Amino acid sequence: MLKIHYSLESDVLNIINDITAPSEINIRVRNLVLKAKKGQSVARGEIIAEHPSKFGGAYHASASGKATKVNYHHLTIKCDCGENSVEPVDVQSMGPGKDLLHTLQQLGIDIAPLSSHCDNLVINGLNPEPGIFVAELLLECEKEILETGLRLAESLITPIHTMLAVARGTSYSLSGTESVSVKPKYPNSLNALVIKAVTGNEFCDDTKIMSIMDVYNLGLAAKNGLPVTDTIMTICGHNYRVPLGTPIRHLLNELDIPVKSGDKAVLGGPFRGEAVYSLDEGVKKGDHGLFIISAGEFPSVEDTTCINCGECVLSCPARILPNLISRYAEYEKFEMAKKYDLDSCFECGLCSFNCTVRRPILQYIRFAKDQLRVSGKAE
Ligand code: SF4
Ligand code: SF4
Repeated sequence: MLKIHYSLESDVLNIINDITAPSEINIRVRNLVLKAKKGQSVARGEIIAEHPSKFGGAYHASASGKATKVNYHHLTIKCDCGENSVEPVDVQSMGPGKDLLHTLQQLGIDIAPLSSHCDNLVINGLNPEPGIFVAELLLECEKEILETGLRLAESLITPIHTMLAVARGTSYSLSGTESVSVKPKYPNSLNALVIKAVTGNEFCDDTKIMSIMDVYNLGLAAKNGLPVTDTIMTICGHNYRVPLGTPIRHLLNELDIPVKSGDKAVLGGPFRGEAVYSLDEGVKKGDHGLFIISAGEFPSVEDTTCINCGECVLSCPARILPNLISRYAEYEKFEMAKKYDLDSCFECGLCSFNCTVRRPILQYIRFAKDQLRVSGKAE
């Protein structure tokens, strides 16, 4: 049986390994606005899709090549291993304002936290989930880029105070920030709980939060003037720089990680990650971990009936009723799920993890949020 622990402490800190480029990349484009067509040749860094929201960053080809398959879910690029790449943009010479925000969005940055002033800016420097060491790795190895990203964020947000949340017992710092220590135990790394730990308040209209990974991407965009085309991931206890869209199968082959029939590959962390349906699935923006769960090592979730044991309610840090909300979502009563504070759920996954009968509670909650978003009824 797999033993899951809650500790957010890091094991491996000081190396980011590179991955050999794949021959093909698969980029998930579901719910995005496609910009590339089948048969089109693309340069590395060329925009292939845009986010439908006002603030979401664009999506780019992480390698040059030809778009060989395009459908509602995925865009596949056959890589040509060439040097064809977009030209860098001089981000650092741009003053704060709409043009800078637009440029950052075109470089793949989510500009929602950057687009208005706030008195307090919190940088979340905790590792996101147990077994993922990316946040502390960046604080250890990439301080200069982080400080470049932070200065850019501050020029747009103009905060009065900037605070860096770090794991208790560590001494990470960034210039111009006040370090605040947080107990390194999941789910304390989630933004809502970090804000509460740092400010003492649950509802803070005057506070914005950014993850250290977002600050890093911002710093890279500022320094290189190139789009976000890779992500840093912890895989089996080691850290890698992985081009976006790299198929999981390629990662497993390159790293010599065996997978048997019935095993599950999970992109993301052990609590919030998603099992992929195919090893051809590509790594996405925001994926910072890959875990292989061997068949039989952990009981899988099933559409079983809730037995009203209350375990999920006891484990919910948002103090809502996951049992009730997930049942409303299951029967497509999304408005009722919303009435019972669906929007207060910050998707920690503890309800699913602790469910006595292994109901897919988090999946139901995400389903309800998605459906409300698509129907325009989300907050
Ligand atoms: S995922 Fe479950 S436990 Fe976590 S906040 Fe949402 S409802 Fe509560
Ligand atoms: S833990 Fe599972 S079975 Fe128990 S109340 Fe929650 S949803 Fe129902």
